[in-house]
Amino acid sequence: MRATRSHQPEFIVTEGYDMRHHSSLETGGKAEYYAKPRDEGEVLSVLELAYRRSLPLTIIGGGTHILVSDEGVEGIVISTEAMKGISIKGDMLIASPGEMLENIINVAIEHRLTGLEEIAGIPGTIAGAISVNANANGRAISDLFLYSDVITPDGRMHRYPHYSDAFGQQSSVIGQSGIVMSVALSLIPSINTADARMRKEAFIESMFIPPCRRFSGEIFRNAGDMRADELLRLASVPGKSGLRAEFSEYQPNSIFTYKGCTSDEIYTLMLEAERKVEKTLGIKLERSLTLIGSFRDLTK
Ligand SMILES: Cc1cc2nc3c(=O)[nH]c(=O)nc-3n(C[C@H](O)[C@H](O)[C@H](O)COP(=O)(O)OP(=O)(O)OC[C@H]3O[C@@H](n4cnc5c(N)ncnc54)[C@H](O)[C@@H]3O)c2cc1C
Repeated sequence: MRATRSHQPEFIVTEGYDMRHHSSLETGGKAEYYAKPRDEGEVLSVLELAYRRSLPLTIIGGGTHILVSDEGVEGIVISTEAMKGISIKGDMLIASPGEMLENIINVAIEHRLTGLEEIAGIPGTIAGAISVNANANGRAISDLFLYSDVITPDGRMHRYPHYSDAFGQQSSVIGQSGIVMSVALSLIPSINTADARMRKEAFIESMFIPPCRRFSGEIFRNAGDMRADELLRLASVPGKSGLRAEFSEYQPNSIFTYKGCTSDEIYTLMLEAERKVEKTLGIKLERSLTLIGSFRDLTK
């Protein structure tokens, strides 16, 4: 399917795209349609196509925090990963949605702007980070958030300024209401860029992301003051599961998978963990990983 707007080279919406290529967990089925717009005009073209054909929309970034249904995804999946660009105005950094966190941190330091070093090592794009409120080492992206420009499915652009209830703990309302098109962060000016670089490298090392790509980020959100990894440990969730997916003993709120694992197996593992924590501790876990497409409870 071709979008109406001409561009160099032509912008194509792919039919039957294998989503395993766009998910860190490398599981899941095909997207009915898949689009990777490079700018606002192409985003509007995809929205127009979706409107004309009454196709549901699913928005993703780098695919490092999604679980795609084995049955595939109905409608158009839009990845904003190809939209790049960073500008600096004083202590404000404005990034296009597809900019990788790592690149943003490097550019910020080059411009003597700091504050993001603690989240160095988190894979994925700035739009994904804002949508899930990515955090590590006591620093959440929301700490530095200034505003975000978001296109809603009707094609209108909205600016979400910083306001205190924009982010709950590890969550955000922004990603759910449209397509994040740019993110402005308010950073901390510093002349000590050598120190910032060293801190960044140290945080990357301490994060320990195994070389294997089939490893998830944090599956569940913390429940108030209670850390999700602690809750999982208390409910004896990590360890052998009999599935080709397991909660890690080392990082109890993360899942790693074995060859041939399916999204259904990961989903089953998540359901079993949720039930175990609720039964043992009376706490209902909230998911951080975004489920894409429809899932059935196969344990029933
Ligand atoms: C090995 C590993 C380690 C990780 N460690 C951490 C960690 O320490 N801390 C942490 O917080 N996370 C961690 N993660 C999770 C993940 O990297 C982050 O959540 C990241 O910010 C997701 O970015 P993404 O571009 O891949 O988003 P995706 O996975 O593509 O999407 C995530 C969510 O963002 C939404 N979204 C993405 N782009 C847009 C857009 N343009 N507009 C609207 N909504 C959008 C999607 O709808 C989805 O709900 C880890 C993941 C892996 C695989």
